[in-house]
Amino acid sequence: MSSKFAFEIKQSAENGLARVGTISTPHGDIQTPAFIPVGTKATVKSVLPEAMKELGSQALLANAYHLYLQPGPDLLDEAGGLAKFMNWNGPTFTDSGGFQVLSLGVGFKKVLAMDAKTFRSDQVIAGNKERLAHVDDDGVTFKSHLDGSMHRFTAEISMQIQHKIGADIIFAFDECTTLHNTRPYQELAMERTYDWAIRCLDEHKRLTEQRSDKPYQALFGVIQGAQYEDLRKKAAADLGTMSSSGIEFDGFGIGGALDKDSLGTIVGWVNSTLPQDKPKHLLGIGAPEDLFVGVENGVDTFDCVLASRIARSGAVYTSTGRINIANAPYIRDFGPIDENCDCYTCKNFTRAYLCHLFRGKEMLAATLATIHNERYIVGLVDRMRQALLDGDFKEMKEEFLGRYTHRSGQSRD
Ligand SMILES: [Zn+2]
Repeated sequence: MSSKFAFEIKQSAENGLARVGTISTPHGDIQTPAFIPVGTKATVKSVLPEAMKELGSQALLANAYHLYLQPGPDLLDEAGGLAKFMNWNGPTFTDSGGFQVLSLGVGFKKVLAMDAKTFRSDQVIAGNKERLAHVDDDGVTFKSHLDGSMHRFTAEISMQIQHKIGADIIFAFDECTTLHNTRPYQELAMERTYDWAIRCLDEHKRLTEQRSDKPYQALFGVIQGAQYEDLRKKAAADLGTMSSSGIEFDGFGIGGALDKDSLGTIVGWVNSTLPQDKPKHLLGIGAPEDLFVGVENGVDTFDCVLASRIARSGAVYTSTGRINIANAPYIRDFGPIDENCDCYTCKNFTRAYLCHLFRGKEMLAATLATIHNERYIVGLVDRMRQALLDGDFKEMKEEFLGRYTHRSGQSRD
């Protein structure tokens, strides 16, 4: 088992930020750009790990917040780490929990994907919901969405949890703001995220030495700064060159609420400021049209719950856009979900069968639809990687978007 983490850039676009590379982790390599499916609670809902491997997933991303609440980091440590616990033979990521304590806790989950044109406030919570998380300069105190018990996350606690969970790539604890927060609040949150980043490096170094018998875990810093150019660039410059306890970040996550219209601009500011030789992950983005924007602006990996979440309600991707397979037009449609798809579902089942399963509320409906949607998104980013290698990314993008009907979607669990 290799103890090293590495990122090798194989090809960069002559003009622009897009590149093709390989991330090496103790549990295997990831050819980038790559889409990383989300298995929030150490499972991609309704799908076997073998099926995720077969459809081309190179890695999976789980969630520190959810796994902390259940079954708890000590149990994962005892089980030999996340990958072994869930029988996933490949690399894993964990999200730090910063987004989750602030979104699930505060109850503004749905607000994060909204546009920046509506009101601004620092007390954004979903209508009539109790505020369940309180941020201070040292960390976040929050109420569990499961049983109402009180908990506290700090930079150190997040690192301790993620070390016990044992994913190959872990993220620094950050304060995730919404597009609705005021500018002074965004500045305050960014200062906190900066301080927490230093504390994450220190604690990560300590834990890495203390647990030197465990596979190496790479720590990614998270870039905040909302929709402000100066804040995004400052965060990227600060974290990009940050060093503490003699270590630096191994890579970076681009976090925070991202307005769909300015996604490319914001990611471009960040990635042109961050060091070029380290991998960049765009958190919670996974709609097809957004993946193109991310790749052309230098994103190496993505994660998003969208593909599996919408699959469970019957929404499936096709070459011409999203359809709901449970709808009447598909009752007698004996073709596959998508003629161009090579997934297990499309090779073996018809739209009519899927329609029947959804209408009958059969469990297999979720499994087959999720396999298709995850293959569609994983395969799309794989095709982007190949197009970058072949030098025809622009043509491939135009051809795809010419047929595809856009739908919005920033989604984290
Ligand atoms: Zn398919």
